[in-house]
Amino acid sequence: QTFLAHIKALNPNLNAFITLDEEKSLHQAKLADQMIAAGKATSLTGIPIAHKDIFCANGWLTTCGSKMLANFIAPYDATIVQLFDQAGMVNLGKTNMDEFAMGSSNETSYYGPVKNPWDKQAVPGGSSGGAACAIAARLIPAATGSDTGGSIRQPAALCGISGIRPTYGLVSRYGMIALASSIDQAGPMAKSAEDLALLLNTMAGFDERDSTSLQREKEDYTQDLNKPLNGVRIGLPKEFFTEGISQEVADAIDAALAEYRKLGATLVEVSLPHGQYAVPVYCVLASAEASSNLARFDGIRYGYRAEHYTNLEDLYTKTRTEGFGEEVKRRILIGTLMLSHDYYEAYYLQSQRIRRLIAKDFTTAFEQCDLIMGPTSPTVAFNIGEKNGDPTQMYLADTYTCTASLAGLPGMSIPIGFGANKRPIGLQIIGNYFREAQMLNAAHSYQ
Ligand code: GLN
Repeated sequence: QTFLAHIKALNPNLNAFITLDEEKSLHQAKLADQMIAAGKATSLTGIPIAHKDIFCANGWLTTCGSKMLANFIAPYDATIVQLFDQAGMVNLGKTNMDEFAMGSSNETSYYGPVKNPWDKQAVPGGSSGGAACAIAARLIPAATGSDTGGSIRQPAALCGISGIRPTYGLVSRYGMIALASSIDQAGPMAKSAEDLALLLNTMAGFDERDSTSLQREKEDYTQDLNKPLNGVRIGLPKEFFTEGISQEVADAIDAALAEYRKLGATLVEVSLPHGQYAVPVYCVLASAEASSNLARFDGIRYGYRAEHYTNLEDLYTKTRTEGFGEEVKRRILIGTLMLSHDYYEAYYLQSQRIRRLIAKDFTTAFEQCDLIMGPTSPTVAFNIGEKNGDPTQMYLADTYTCTASLAGLPGMSIPIGFGANKRPIGLQIIGNYFREAQMLNAAHSYQ
């Protein structure tokens, strides 16, 4: 009730939530009480959480930030929603996000932009901007997010919180509305690495309902949190420290790395020579996959349907014209073009090849280091409206995050300070496949 009261007081201004349902939340809180009374509590029982509106939650409006799904009540739970329910967490609502997770500022949401709680002129980042904002403003202690090109890490950095995108396949995506299926990954967002470890313990695991889910033995991600960092080799990709990065971010990263050296780690230079192609490759592949995934929003099966139409073709056209926002349409157009007969070879296949080279770069780099560190975002949070008319500038916000995404590697962001105008700065930590425990150990040691 304390959290709900905070939300009631602050959310009208911040716009971090799309849906709140006090009755449902209080009912879940009662169930948590019963679990505790019955001696069945887990370490998460009774703790509030909020789900990004990309996750289906049974009986909850699930909009994905789009007019297209503005009337869609999910008839089932996403696997991770179910897992957190079973652990006794209390769902306080569905958080705001860029439409269909396309964006880096939360400005493409049909439900309006979210404000950065540190400075209400600034964006919170995206696409999991509502989640990052709600945690930073202390409206909730934990949230789910999804990260394709950086949508957990970048908003975490811009709002001064912690977030981790696990290895591709570690966390089930069943019930998570698809953007780019070969890149999408779900993950937790919270105040600290320790909280992320607890959340990941519940989220991670094989799910037969997700065909990309991996069968692995369960791990305890809290296990290594307090391990000393002596001898840990931190790789610094020289391509991450070029002129694209703002001075205040570079200074904060330097200070954080000095701290790591004090903690016993050694710093080594590594190289990701194909990293410079990550943003264009991501744009081609993510748009191509999105254009295919979003074909299901046809006005027939569920969601929005245009009111006036003359035939089936007209129904499709009007529904999609009226239901999708500008950024979604842009990507459907780009993606469809990339997959068309004349362009498939030159763009789609070529991008797949470069994606392979980017993954190989990481394999080589991880022969020389245990973890990779660098900036999460090239700049602190920008102002609402500042990049809105310029998609290319917006895509460049993912410069440092989409590289690991394309390789399927785990990445996280932790807060390391503030820029001159008191806007937060994040440090990105990239691990090798399934090295989440080691990443959380490094993050926790710093925190
Ligand atoms: N900003 C990126 C995009 O617009 C990332 C989105 C995401 O990770 N879901 O595609």
